[in-house]
Amino acid sequence: MTEGAVDLLELDREALAALVESINQPAYRSRQIWRQIYERGVLDPLQMTDLPTDLRRQLSQASGGPLDDPVQVQTSADGSTSKALIALSDGELIETVLIRSAPRDTVCISSQAGCAMGCVFCATGLQGLRRQLTVGEILRQAILARAWARDEGRDLTNVVFMGMGEPLANYPRLSEAIARLTDPDGFGLSPRRITVSTVGIATNIRRLAIDHPRVNLAVSLHAPDPQLRRELVPVDGASLDEIIDAVRDHGDATGGRVTFEYVLLDGVNDSRAHARRLADRLRGLRAHVNLIPLNPSPGVVGRRPSRRSVLGFQQALQDRNVPVTIRVEQGSDIAAACGQLRGDRVRRSDTGRSDSG
Ligand code: SF4
Repeated sequence: MTEGAVDLLELDREALAALVESINQPAYRSRQIWRQIYERGVLDPLQMTDLPTDLRRQLSQASGGPLDDPVQVQTSADGSTSKALIALSDGELIETVLIRSAPRDTVCISSQAGCAMGCVFCATGLQGLRRQLTVGEILRQAILARAWARDEGRDLTNVVFMGMGEPLANYPRLSEAIARLTDPDGFGLSPRRITVSTVGIATNIRRLAIDHPRVNLAVSLHAPDPQLRRELVPVDGASLDEIIDAVRDHGDATGGRVTFEYVLLDGVNDSRAHARRLADRLRGLRAHVNLIPLNPSPGVVGRRPSRRSVLGFQQALQDRNVPVTIRVEQGSDIAAACGQLRGDRVRRSDTGRSDSG
């Protein structure tokens, strides 16, 4: 984007109205532009065909023209999953994944470039936090994925904030992005179709319940005991007890059910004893557990557990009446685990630099 240009996705309704006024256009033009962006997904002003040509040119100059296409797109052999590597204006790389699972088309969105949480089994955690994403950078991913789905004759049905980064560590921008995704005059998604996944930032779990009570909450727990949890998710944040308290408050405020994500690592957290302690910890919550057998990637800690131990873990939870599912794996042939594609790219360019220099 050229210097001084305004990314239209960074503008809320008021700011867009002010821009339209500043170029001496009537107020209704800003409503037209809003619909072009959020209903139709048109990000290049020159393609906003219901606007006069002069206005399109003015907007294109003000906004610096169309955004770059993703630098890389991979689709899994079975066609179920496509992953885009997107370069931001400062060169940072983020990943966005579209998962086709009829009747749903779900986009998995990144909320930060990198991540500070340092989960030991996660390729993004290895990279550390690079920076927060802006509202526009978050929204662009949903608009891009919806365009893919529409090109294929479907539509985007679900948004999950489970990509790179910890969404609740970028709360104000996440909250504004959710507001625009659920704006009935804009993107028009039901809040019930949005899920925010967090490692457990207690304060912002409670804020989410107030600001977006119908949005689904998923909490990545991964361990039933404080010591093991600290080993797997070394972030200096809320304790397990504080997280569970925040989830209970969230449930009391919203009446919703929380999903606990639990990545299973062979010989680390996957025994029946772990499952029994997990069931004890979740007692009294309206909860569902989603088991995720580790999808190993280069440089991260942990091995994938055997099918037998995954089923044993599931059975131990079911024996204690905890609703539990095992995540169906899609797209493992395209490095669909969070941060893998970016990691591959950065490693390749690092190798390229050392080779040449
Ligand atoms: S799993 Fe999520 S929270 Fe943990 S390091 Fe990776 S991106 Fe961050």
